[in-house]
Amino acid sequence: MREVLLVRFGEVHLKGLNRPYFLKTLVDDIRKTLGEGRVWLSEGRIYVSDFPDMEEAIDKVKNVFGVYSVSPAVEMEKDLDAILAKAAEMMKDVKGSFKVICRRSDKSFPLNSQVLAGVAGERILEANPSLTVDVHRPQTEMWIEIRDHAYLCNREIMGAGGLPMGTAGRGMLLLSGGIDSPVAGYQIMRRGVHLQAIHFASPPYTSAFARDKVLSLARLTGGYQYGMKVHIVPFTRPQLEIHEKCEEGLGTVIMRRFMMRIAAKVAENERCSCLVTGESIGQVASQTLEAMMCTENVTLMPVFRPLIGMDKLEIIRIAERIGTYETSILPYEDCCTVFTPRHPVTKPRLDKVEKEESKLDVEKLVNEAVAGTEVEYV
Ligand code: ATP
Ligand code: MG
Repeated sequence: MREVLLVRFGEVHLKGLNRPYFLKTLVDDIRKTLGEGRVWLSEGRIYVSDFPDMEEAIDKVKNVFGVYSVSPAVEMEKDLDAILAKAAEMMKDVKGSFKVICRRSDKSFPLNSQVLAGVAGERILEANPSLTVDVHRPQTEMWIEIRDHAYLCNREIMGAGGLPMGTAGRGMLLLSGGIDSPVAGYQIMRRGVHLQAIHFASPPYTSAFARDKVLSLARLTGGYQYGMKVHIVPFTRPQLEIHEKCEEGLGTVIMRRFMMRIAAKVAENERCSCLVTGESIGQVASQTLEAMMCTENVTLMPVFRPLIGMDKLEIIRIAERIGTYETSILPYEDCCTVFTPRHPVTKPRLDKVEKEESKLDVEKLVNEAVAGTEVEYV
């Protein structure tokens, strides 16, 4: 008898011919996350054993993208008496209602699933008469699976869900020092997109502290995919030129168009196929529908905004859960806040924006910024 983890995967089931690739990626990711112990795939489940602290293993495995849920389970010989005794023991201190669910893939086991569930239910009630049976909405499900061994579990911890790392391709996250962009990155990574980050820095208007803060956020966000490549773009020159030459109220939207152009170029060089931002409708002047239309107009690369329909409080809740919130709220000077116009135009018109922008040598500014970009690995 020994303790194992039983790992269920959700949508990976759906992926037809890609299934072996998805599962191999998921098993590899779990191995990488744990660093030790045994991880193997058998009959549509992933198992973990021989990890020194199983509660710690649960905490780690549940955060791996593609994991639907994790259960600590007992693996034992397929001996009916021993199974019933163990099931009763596991339910001894449980309160409320329960149900036994059995699965038997080894058809040579003498009892079929229904009979086994009935017998086990009786034994559990004998040992703990305070329990009640509820087959529809039980508070506890006692699982007994008869496979190569018997597996018993009565606790299920929900996992991160989504798809295994990188199985959906590569993307470029526009990472500021705020609350939203790390959350946006997490949402897209969870769908199997491996992300790099790009950050626009405007020294001396933004400090070395701001840069460190962004790298910390990249480290936290990238932790969900075993590290992150971060591109730091020198953005002072475009900012100053926009500030000097363009109508003040349109400054923000023009600056954001520069960000998009530069990000798209760097993304193309890195063979990424989408940009990701933390925008949400109406949150600030540059996130009105009109402003986002003007911003997006400069690139053909898809721009994904996973937070688009979310309220700030919902975003904060996720930031807290994924561990980026505390770092995001540290004070810093964002390059956007330094050059923010006093009265930004909330409904910019594309023709006006383009006219203002024509006062600048856009291509040269973009190319210089791309050429000056520094790379850090966190
Ligand atoms: P966040 O909380 O992510 O900073 P925000 O509410 O401050 O977002 P904006 O400053 O308008 O909103 O930025 C919107 C999005 O644009 C950000 O979520 C991020 O994806 C991108 N962005 C803004 N500033 C930068 C920057 N300096 N470097 C890289 N991306 C940025
Ligand atoms: Mg910001």
